[in-house]
Amino acid sequence: MQTDCQEVWNNCLQLIKENVGQQSFNTWFVPIRPLKLENNILTIQVPSQFFYEWLEEHYVHLLRQAIDKELGKEGRLEYSIIVDRGDERHQPLTVNVRGHKNDASHVVQASRESYVDPFRMRNLDLSRLDSQLNPKNTFETFVEGDCNRLARSAGYAVAQKPGVTSFNPLMVYGGVGLGKTHLVQAIGNEIKSLYNDQKFVLYVSSEKFTNQFIDALKNNNVQEFSNFYLQIDVLILDDVQFLAGKEKTQEIFFHVFNHLHQSGKQIIMTSDCSPRDLKGMQERLLSRFKWGLTADLQQPDYETRVAIIEKKIQDDGISIPGDVVEYLAYSIDTNIRELEGVLISLIAHASLVRQDINLELAKQTLKNIVHDIDAEVGIDYIQKTVAEYFKVEVSEIKSKSRKKEIVIPRQVAMYFSKLYTNHSLKVIGYHFGGRDHSTVIHAMHSVEDMIETDSRFKNSIEEIKKKLKMRRG
Ligand code: ADP
Ligand code: MG
Repeated sequence: MQTDCQEVWNNCLQLIKENVGQQSFNTWFVPIRPLKLENNILTIQVPSQFFYEWLEEHYVHLLRQAIDKELGKEGRLEYSIIVDRGDERHQPLTVNVRGHKNDASHVVQASRESYVDPFRMRNLDLSRLDSQLNPKNTFETFVEGDCNRLARSAGYAVAQKPGVTSFNPLMVYGGVGLGKTHLVQAIGNEIKSLYNDQKFVLYVSSEKFTNQFIDALKNNNVQEFSNFYLQIDVLILDDVQFLAGKEKTQEIFFHVFNHLHQSGKQIIMTSDCSPRDLKGMQERLLSRFKWGLTADLQQPDYETRVAIIEKKIQDDGISIPGDVVEYLAYSIDTNIRELEGVLISLIAHASLVRQDINLELAKQTLKNIVHDIDAEVGIDYIQKTVAEYFKVEVSEIKSKSRKKEIVIPRQVAMYFSKLYTNHSLKVIGYHFGGRDHSTVIHAMHSVEDMIETDSRFKNSIEEIKKKLKMRRG
């Protein structure tokens, strides 16, 4: 019997191997153990429920095909799932799940009642776990205003009863520097202090989440990666727009999301636009984002800007005359990060020239900051920023290459050089491998055309613009 089942499974693996990539094969099929073959039913052991679901979702047809070939149409596949109850002394429990009825979703449903929660795997030492929260980002330091009232109070409610309110997931969205990260971290910090560190709170940027996942794929430990995330009580995922177009990462997040949500765990996310406008995301993820509450952060109005400045200087133990506070609040209306940046420059400037902060100095500082932008954004810097954005080399931008992947970044860099520096067309052309002024004009027109006709391209231009403007801070 034993050899039969091993042999049948080996034959199945042959077929599977021919149909999936090496990495997927190693990740999802190598860890499987064939257990028995009885009554034309092959039972295979998989390491976790998560694993089983992933197989059912991604490889159900392939498995069916393999079973058909080996055991015929009547052949069946059963899964035995290892359920580790976190108790080292006991052997893992295995739970059988029948696979391959006509509809895989029925199988999942039917089996759900019968097993113990498989996601209490290893006992994590919560007290030693770093939640990745900045302790300064609290509700105390977060100034309330009309621009953030709904998001703030929803966040506050979530912090009191994570996973219990209907605000699950809580999705906070808004432009750069408007306080998304601050607010969601405030929620995390509040939960930690309310629950005496008894809840496992984790803050992670979507970029980090993606990189961890890629590493897990590379190192064949997707299991550990998912096990880790499935144990979290409060998951804070920042900047989910970063997951756009990253299919595999979205899939794993989808699973993590489902499990956490089903087990009453809290999910908090931020995004730079509303879920409706998120591009490159799977529909099923988007629809889940809308299950809870979506709240936006808007640009702070004048009064809130004054309150924020006052709060910052108070916390820093500095005094600044009222007319200066008003002047700053009046002049900087873009976002809070910028407001903070200017405030820091002003304080630095005052201590440098050993002068008290007054209106005159504030005006001078603001002028300096504006002046700095022009001085700092040179052609070199633009080339570097654009090259980084498109993931090409600066040397390629300056080269003669006519490859499309190079031509567009080159044109974009020319476009910004004309827009943001005072150099003549001739000088700009010179910096791009000695091209003449008509090439630069042509680049300007192409870029303008593409901005008109291609919304993705337009977004890229906006992104680069933001990066170039960050030099202000
Ligand atoms: P985002 O994540 O939306 O880009 P951040 O949360 O990083 O923005 O906020 C930018 C800066 O502004 C941070 O230093 C943050 O502490 C501060 N900030 C944002 N909103 C507020 C607020 N309502 N009150 C006080 N400081 C704020
Ligand atoms: Mg942020």
